[in-house]
Amino acid sequence: MTKIPDKIKTRAAVLRKELERHNRLYYVDAAPEISDAEYDRRMSELIAIEEKFPALKTPDSPTQRVGGDRVEGFKSVTHSVPMMSLDNTYSPEELREFDGRVRKITEKITYIAELKIDGLAVTLRYKNGVFETGATRGDGVRGDDATANLRTIAALPLKLHDEKFNGVEVRGEVYLPKKQFELINAEREREGEPLFANPRNAAAGTLKLLDPKIVAKRRLGLFVYTLLEPEKYGVLGQFEALEKMKELGFPVNDGYRKFRDIEEVVGYCALMEQKRHNLPYAVDGMVIKVNELDKQSILGVTSKSPRWAIAYKFKAEQARTKLKDITVQVGRMGSLTPVAELEPVQLAGTTVKRATLHNEDEIERKDVRIGDTVIVEKAGEIIPEVVGVVMDARTGREKKFKMPSECPVCGSKVVRKEDDAITRCINIRCMAQLEGRIRHFASRDAMNIEGMGPAIVEQLLRNKMIKDYGDLYSLTIFDVANMDRMGQKSADNLLNEIEASKKRDLENLIYALGIRNVGQHTAEVLAENYDSIDALAKAPEQELTTIHEIGAVVANDIVEFFSGRENREVLEKLRAAGVNFKRTKKKAAKNVLKGKVFVFTGEMSKYSRGEAGNIVKSLGGRISSSVSKETDYVVVGNEPGSKYDRAVKLGVEILNEQQFLDMVAQ
Ligand code: NAD
Repeated sequence: MTKIPDKIKTRAAVLRKELERHNRLYYVDAAPEISDAEYDRRMSELIAIEEKFPALKTPDSPTQRVGGDRVEGFKSVTHSVPMMSLDNTYSPEELREFDGRVRKITEKITYIAELKIDGLAVTLRYKNGVFETGATRGDGVRGDDATANLRTIAALPLKLHDEKFNGVEVRGEVYLPKKQFELINAEREREGEPLFANPRNAAAGTLKLLDPKIVAKRRLGLFVYTLLEPEKYGVLGQFEALEKMKELGFPVNDGYRKFRDIEEVVGYCALMEQKRHNLPYAVDGMVIKVNELDKQSILGVTSKSPRWAIAYKFKAEQARTKLKDITVQVGRMGSLTPVAELEPVQLAGTTVKRATLHNEDEIERKDVRIGDTVIVEKAGEIIPEVVGVVMDARTGREKKFKMPSECPVCGSKVVRKEDDAITRCINIRCMAQLEGRIRHFASRDAMNIEGMGPAIVEQLLRNKMIKDYGDLYSLTIFDVANMDRMGQKSADNLLNEIEASKKRDLENLIYALGIRNVGQHTAEVLAENYDSIDALAKAPEQELTTIHEIGAVVANDIVEFFSGRENREVLEKLRAAGVNFKRTKKKAAKNVLKGKVFVFTGEMSKYSRGEAGNIVKSLGGRISSSVSKETDYVVVGNEPGSKYDRAVKLGVEILNEQQFLDMVAQ
């Protein structure tokens, strides 16, 4: 076996960790930090490493899974057929390679090229011609029931034109029109709320809202592109399926075309790449599908995506400009982010003056120096990024960047832990952090203190009326009413909001505390496992890591947070003010398999083993590869192996596929 160099092993581990973090930010929090193009580059790098060194390919690698976007508060739905992702290509050359792979396995095919709408996938089920349920993709196996929110979409037919097909299921993309995206972001900016990075994230964030009335106001759109059980309708290919769905009354995007030859496909992709900016919705590429359904079955699927389809991603827009300087910004968690100060340049319809450089390692990897000519990229996102250097333009006078050893805001020493790419200011009283933390504490998904906008927080801190978010609860009407531009009524409202926030649920408070790496979803998981802040504060690191979805890094961050003296003092202020520290909601049934150990043997008809394993894990259970006394259930499919005999011998409970599916159905 080839020996894997340590450098490669470390790089793979770093990429995996980063991709997982970005998956969480993208799918769960709908707030990505990097552009899709940058994410795709890191994913391609990991795929390349894993292909070269297959021993590094683990079943839980982000290269092997469909990114999960399940959210607390929604009923879960197990998909009738898994909802897959797509493999990506970025050049005509890669499209030709795809064509080569397809034609090696089958011939006499045609292609359908469709627009790749940048939204999120949903599945829609109809009974006797009437819309019954709809769900998001989730982890591909199980998604969230989004029926109530989907009903608000004007384009979604509640009744089909033809009722004779019992049990119609289609899949498509929910998106947010560009105009709506701009309106929503303008409103969020006025409210001092974080902006959505792009229409896709805004659509995802919207569909996750718990109040359909707000969803209705956002005016989501829909295009469908997959017809399930196509044979039922007598269609033989994707083209006919699209036509059939139109006939039934579904909105089908009219950008689809049929081609015989891959060169025609390449030409059409190039044409649409130019035209995409004129469309009223965001399109991030094209999807090329083998048309004939029988050929699709021959080509089959991988664990993550069909082999008969491929995405062709459009290039992110780039521009060349001069890097005048690198400054350092301090975030609410104390992270120091190097920012490129640029010679202003026109890019994707806006003037770009600053771009993110992410962190020290990225600067080093790309060898970016002050004075360089750089390539800046913007893929519809708000924060552009520096993706590379024009080496030919180097003069030799460029200067290397060095991360400061002191925080540029408060002057205290900064630290960078081993295996962390980020340098941080750890002074919790640092102004940059204080402001960010307090705004986060008051934000909608945290303590939801409406009216606590950036200007107010800044004033409260500047006038030394508060030192941390614990002090918000000691503000009096005199303090507030005396602030600039604050009338009596607004002051009353703000105090009422602060008072009302004391009753927020445990999960909101955990999220509000601003523990590093504890986003909204992680906070929900923690609130499910601990019934009060005090119980969480006492939880040993080891115990935290046994919770599904809580890894070693997050566990360490939690313990570190609660062991900090300043943090404990702030918590006591919250307690004294009467802020709710306990879980008030009933424990969700999400962890029904908590602690249960499953072993699978034999083939199941509905799910692959990996998919079934994901279901178990999503319900809090664990998977083991061998049967022992610790095993709770052995799930037996077709042609089971020796694990079945061992289960019988040890008296472990045995489930057939149906029994297993009944057990996990909620
Ligand atoms: P994807 O978006 O690349 O492609 C699959 C999806 O395309 C489908 O699930 C479907 O929703 C959509 N689609 C749109 N039109 C379609 C059509 N006509 N036919 C079929 N499908 C169509 O894959 P993904 O798994 O949803 O997401 C992965 C991508 O998300 C990455 O490549 C990356 O670009 C982005 N991402 C970004 C970050 C980040 O931090 N910026 C993090 C995670 C993922």
